[in-house]
Amino acid sequence: MNILVLNAGSSSLKFQIIRTDLEMIEKAQDEMLAKGLIERIGSQALISFQVVGKPQFKNAVPIRDHRDALNYALAWITNPETDIPGIKNTTDINAIGHRVVHGGEDFTTSIRIDQTVIKSIEDNIDLAPLHNPPNLKGIYAARDIFGANTPQVAVFDTAFHSTMPEVSFLYGIPYQLYRRFKIRKYGFHGTSHRYIGYRYRILEGIPRDKVNIITLHLGNGASACAIKAGHSIDTSMGMSPLDGLMMGTRSGDLDPQVVEFIAHKENSTLSEVIQLLNKRSGMLGISGLTHDMRDLESEWNEYKDRRAKLAIDMFCGKIKKYVGGYMAEMGGVDAICFSAGIGENSSLTRKLSLEGLEFLGIKIDDKKNKEIIGGKEGVISAKDSKIKVYVIPTNEELILARDTCRVVLNAPLP
Ligand code: ADP
Repeated sequence: MNILVLNAGSSSLKFQIIRTDLEMIEKAQDEMLAKGLIERIGSQALISFQVVGKPQFKNAVPIRDHRDALNYALAWITNPETDIPGIKNTTDINAIGHRVVHGGEDFTTSIRIDQTVIKSIEDNIDLAPLHNPPNLKGIYAARDIFGANTPQVAVFDTAFHSTMPEVSFLYGIPYQLYRRFKIRKYGFHGTSHRYIGYRYRILEGIPRDKVNIITLHLGNGASACAIKAGHSIDTSMGMSPLDGLMMGTRSGDLDPQVVEFIAHKENSTLSEVIQLLNKRSGMLGISGLTHDMRDLESEWNEYKDRRAKLAIDMFCGKIKKYVGGYMAEMGGVDAICFSAGIGENSSLTRKLSLEGLEFLGIKIDDKKNKEIIGGKEGVISAKDSKIKVYVIPTNEELILARDTCRVVLNAPLP
């Protein structure tokens, strides 16, 4: 099956074409054929498309909306000159898998999209006002262009965390508020945490119920997940992605009293304060320079900028607290797995966030830590470390493609 995987953001559309079927999943032989990114939808958009093993196609063209963007991508995908093996026209795409950020309590697994599903995703917009609307735009665009005969599947970022017990997902606020408004922790990056757990199990050659690990998805957005017996039992993001670890521009954990205090002192509205906590806080807010870990590291290395280092130290310090906390919650773990832009590339972050945890049986091998960057996969802990430390490059699209395939074929979902 050729699956078109779509990830629609507020002004971007990412896609991959992945060939897979049940046998290919079983043998891990799924094949990514092409990928692309359209940024700045709504103005002069930036295009970068690539067939695997061929040079990148880049362009800048005006693109009005997500439907235009998808049409543009499909024109390239089906162009004979693009020459994607086995794809000559849109009918060669057998199904479409969409990343949807918030499934609320309605969706605990991936599901085929129909009118009822669309309505439920729309109903969850107030839980994810920044994310679900663009995801829906991707769904509407694909439905308009492909029609009802091409199956579409929604894969939710929250779904993997639906196994969290009440003690993990409830906030210490009146229970009625959970009952009435579903205010609770949902967690995000679930597809990524799930992939890392899957990949760890393959690398270790163990069954799913033996997976007892902490996964760290550290990108611009960052979250930690406690995976026990293969299931998420706790995660650091909350009802929204603002909670938990400190991030590029998000504050992470915060005393809620601060919100009212800032609003009062700065004479701003609640939504302006929330905007500040989402967009101007985290490493950007602390350093006053940038949200970008690469730049923070070079500010520190080249200019010894104190606040750049403070931002890095706070980012890593918070990771350490979550690692310690989850180890206590789980009664110990077998491995800690780093992933996403920072987790896959920043050996400094990996070192600082696990430094001093030798008493818990965690010891990094500095040489391996420095070597495993740039998309490499492997173990960075020392031979005598009781707990293994892995770097596992994430691959959310693979999970999206596989779930889409399974849903379309009515095969059981893992
Ligand atoms: P997103 O959440 O947007 O998907 P990514 O997973 O792409 O984010 O991660 C982006 C982060 O990864 C940025 O902070 C970036 O600086 C960091 N990063 C990427 N490469 C490196 C590197 N070589 N060294 C340190 N940090 C890096």
